[in-house]
Amino acid sequence: MTTQQSTSPVTVVGLGPMGMALAEALLKQGHPLTVWNRTPGKAEGLVTNGAHLAATVSEAVSASPVTITCLKDYETVYGAFDSAGDALKGRILVNLNSGTPTEARTALGWATERGAEYLDGAIMVPPPLVGHPESVFLYSGSRDVFDKVRVTLASMGDPRYLGSDPSLAVLYNAALLDMMYATMNGFLHATALVGSADVSAVEFAELALGWFMPSVVDSGLAELAPDLEKGDYPGDLGTMEMNLNALEHITRTSVEQGVHSDQPRLMKEIAERAIAEGYSDKNYLAVFEIFKKATPAS
Ligand code: NAP
Repeated sequence: MTTQQSTSPVTVVGLGPMGMALAEALLKQGHPLTVWNRTPGKAEGLVTNGAHLAATVSEAVSASPVTITCLKDYETVYGAFDSAGDALKGRILVNLNSGTPTEARTALGWATERGAEYLDGAIMVPPPLVGHPESVFLYSGSRDVFDKVRVTLASMGDPRYLGSDPSLAVLYNAALLDMMYATMNGFLHATALVGSADVSAVEFAELALGWFMPSVVDSGLAELAPDLEKGDYPGDLGTMEMNLNALEHITRTSVEQGVHSDQPRLMKEIAERAIAEGYSDKNYLAVFEIFKKATPAS
């Protein structure tokens, strides 16, 4: 089955905010589009613009060589597609809901049992950015399947293939979101801290986001990956003890200023654990050794 034409027929199952954005992008790129959604009324605008609304998942899947599903989670996918009988046999299913690595591996087995070729994926942008060529979509699973659908996937954004292990896309997704939330919380907590002295968020952002993030944080992060690979954390420019002292000051300042102190306290406890494990004279990056292990039972 060839799926390499830039305007091959595609089916989209799931028309929440994200599935709708995917469907709109595919339609805009000229793909003959079939859609299915539990609430069919959401397809109205797509149908006006030329999409076909299928009455059942089976009919939707049968309409195209490739089905892209973007439902709430893996359980919802099973619930929706289990009624589709043999429709998936010999077709390609690209699953773009979020979940966990174990769920992604289970989904490969589930799709294989139904005779489908399966690719798992994760969308790294919000709905309004879908369809932009620079918007990153992560994929993992069979390279052969990815190559068959790459041109179609490029209609939704920049398709990045991560490897044959189907769980890699959701794992990268969790890792990048982990970083996003930690970074946002860092800024939000810092803004609350200066806000306790009536400094406005806009005033603080000029220094924090305009200078500190790019000049101190971004450039520092860009250089540290090779040291993490080597497990090399020389403490000659600053030790874990020195960093613990800084974290102690942040925690006490938060308490003194009457703002929430759990976040700096947690960072302090992690540095304390690193010291307890023998990294007191290493630099702060040795915290990576703590992060690589499961949290000890309390
Ligand atoms: P969502 O609320 O996670 O999913 C909505 C879709 O799931 C709708 O099609 C909804 O159908 C369907 N659904 C929910 N329960 C169902 C059930 N029991 N049976 C059949 N269909 C059911 O909204 P979303 O924003 O479109 O997200 C879809 C996936 O994309 C999620 O896994 C999300 O994590 C991921 N994602 C979203 C974003 C984002 O910014 N929105 C970004 C990246 C990734 P109805 O329309 O009938 O309710």
